[in-house]
Amino acid sequence: PLASEPDWLSSLNPPQREAVLTTEGPVLMLAGAGTGKTKALTARLAWILANRLAWPSELLAVTFTNKAAREMRHRLGTMIGPAAEGMPWLGTFHAIAAKMLRRHAELVGLKSNFTILDTDDQLRLLKQVIAEANLDEKRWPAKALAGLIDRWKNKGQVPADVPAGESFAFADGQGATLYARYQERLATLNAADFGDLLLHGIVILERHADLRAEWQRKFKYCLVDEYQDTNAAQYRWLKLLVGERHNLCCVGDDDQSIYSWRGAEVSNILRFEKDFPGARIIRLEQNYRSTPHILAAASGVIAKNSGRLGKTLWTAMNGGEKVNVVGVWDGPEEARLVGERIERLAREGAGLEQVAILVRAQHQTREFEDRFIAIGLPYRIVGGFRFYERAEIRDALAYLRLVNSADDALAFERIVNVPKRGLGDKAQALIAAHARATGSSLSHAAAGIIETDELPAAARRNLATLVGDLRRWRAMADTTPHPELAQIILEECGYVAALQADKSAEAAGRLDNLAELVRAMEVYDDLQAFLEHVSLVMDNDRSEGEAKVTIMTLHAAKGLEFDHIFLPGWEEGLFPSQRALDEGGQASLEEERRLAYVGITRARRRATILHAANRRVYGQWTSSIPSRFVAELPAEHVESETTLSGGPSLWRAALGDGDPFAHLERGSGRGPGWERAASRGVKRPGVIEGRATHVTVGGRARGEFAVGVRVFHQKFGQGTVRAVDANKLTVSFDASGDKLVLDSFVEPLG
Ligand code: ATP
Ligand code: MG
Repeated sequence: PLASEPDWLSSLNPPQREAVLTTEGPVLMLAGAGTGKTKALTARLAWILANRLAWPSELLAVTFTNKAAREMRHRLGTMIGPAAEGMPWLGTFHAIAAKMLRRHAELVGLKSNFTILDTDDQLRLLKQVIAEANLDEKRWPAKALAGLIDRWKNKGQVPADVPAGESFAFADGQGATLYARYQERLATLNAADFGDLLLHGIVILERHADLRAEWQRKFKYCLVDEYQDTNAAQYRWLKLLVGERHNLCCVGDDDQSIYSWRGAEVSNILRFEKDFPGARIIRLEQNYRSTPHILAAASGVIAKNSGRLGKTLWTAMNGGEKVNVVGVWDGPEEARLVGERIERLAREGAGLEQVAILVRAQHQTREFEDRFIAIGLPYRIVGGFRFYERAEIRDALAYLRLVNSADDALAFERIVNVPKRGLGDKAQALIAAHARATGSSLSHAAAGIIETDELPAAARRNLATLVGDLRRWRAMADTTPHPELAQIILEECGYVAALQADKSAEAAGRLDNLAELVRAMEVYDDLQAFLEHVSLVMDNDRSEGEAKVTIMTLHAAKGLEFDHIFLPGWEEGLFPSQRALDEGGQASLEEERRLAYVGITRARRRATILHAANRRVYGQWTSSIPSRFVAELPAEHVESETTLSGGPSLWRAALGDGDPFAHLERGSGRGPGWERAASRGVKRPGVIEGRATHVTVGGRARGEFAVGVRVFHQKFGQGTVRAVDANKLTVSFDASGDKLVLDSFVEPLG
């Protein structure tokens, strides 16, 4: 024990202390919002480290977001100083699993520099898999398959585990087969999707008893925050790592389980005692975060849910303001009003970093962004995919990914003709065909093609430049700091010049975004660490310094707290979401209600709930009615006001100018030319299909192309082989004379 008790320990209440000091054996801390679960968990880590019960590298600590991990690391530093340094295994499930997988990648057929695909890449790949199976993508959309695969992965199921019945959820029973095919493609690309990080981890740990024992020995203590939102795969992975020692401490709140759509299972909490016999269950009841009004309002709403474990919450705080409910005319007014209130708070001395706007749906943020830009109110968007989803950022990342891993076919596809360099559909189809025929990566195939006459001179020159550049950048990567390298790449590949030539305001913004990207890279050790961060975080909240208002989804706000919280869009169809209403089930409505509970309980001092009478949804004005959750707020803790003055509240503006179905087009059928080209290529006989057959039987016999043999080439027609050099042939074509071509594009005649 420590000589004298430090503040971080003496300030805890008795049950919190118990959670800290009970280091051996399983512990479950089950308690409501703001009761100090995360605080106690952090103190437990500090206690273990300060007493040298384990080294930093022997602790496995799982947080729900990367941001939470950063915060915990920081707090530990302030609590126990340098003793907290290290902690390589403090992070989210995904971040930790990714790191472990890099060590054992070869056990699941990957290389340690594997790429982590984002959802966009995943969809592109699935489209190809669906097309290859000759299925109609319109009837069997990639998105649906992606959803199924995610669900299986969240349950920890590899293709062979998928129950036959579930396979019928897609393409008349081909679901599992396509899933298997997709996994094969991922392996060829040296890539993993999000779900794979844990799934591969499970497979490795289950198959290799020696490794499992090693990891179990390593992790002396395991801790998990936000335990109510773990899914089956995460749970299984965790059990594999905890081993027999059972030094596992989980903390959670069943009322804050809001990720069932991602496979989270609250039942994990309920069965904790069964899985870990002798578990100490610790309950915390004192809330230290919010005022009595806020706490009572949140408790009133969540009380409407059934099947809760039920918890008492109290606070020693006094006073505070009632929860404010404001009715406004429409979305723009909502944004205007929130902007004004925030400016008022700032004038009264509140720091902007203590203000957050929590939205139900990602698209709600734009209205606030527009308004805040107009009035010059600094803000940041957290937890979304916004920054890294912008086209120019994705392009830049594709270049970086290719430099990091030459096998990254999706990245290659993305940038081969970006900026435009005359490598259109035809050239791309050619590269793809050659890659398939030889079973090599696109980069490799491209390198082969430029040594031949397969491409027109200009395209060939440009491709040669690209291939050469990529090689050079790769060579530079060892010696050049990665932000500088990124800068060089963006300039040398012509991307920056193309944007500079474009005089639109949009292009200027894109240049700024690229500059921001380079800045963002600086805090990472190397390119790979940065790319990993991007695939895992995808938010742009790193621009430290200036105080900013935070805009984020309710989902992303879990575990956080702010003095002032604005909760806009509390309308039926928006919150609860239309989806939850359509599904109709009590379960989805209750999950929405838990989300409302999470939202209100983020506030320390003041919560403002807003609802608009009119909303523009996909270009159409619709009138809306206040959320049922507004009515569920206990009246004595609420103060209502409205800015509506006259005018029928069910007024429907005749302003609808958009196509109501426009949104349905988005995100589907917008495949880039590359995919179209590739699938056309597949159907072209003699090039891919014919060649693929040869490959599966062991490759074409060299002898077929002996000097003097007559051959047919797709583009150059008939000719006679003059020389053979590995997979390259010099052919004297009847029409065009001598050319150097690839054997994969040539068929012997007769
Ligand atoms: P959530 O369920 O929202 O994740 P939580 O249970 O993890 O909440 P914390 O975030 O750990 O709660 O704590 C909420 C607030 O209460 C924090 O500001 C924390 O510093 C404060 N707090 C927690 N325990 C104590 C304590 N014993 N004394 C004083 N303040 C405390
Ligand atoms: Mg917490």
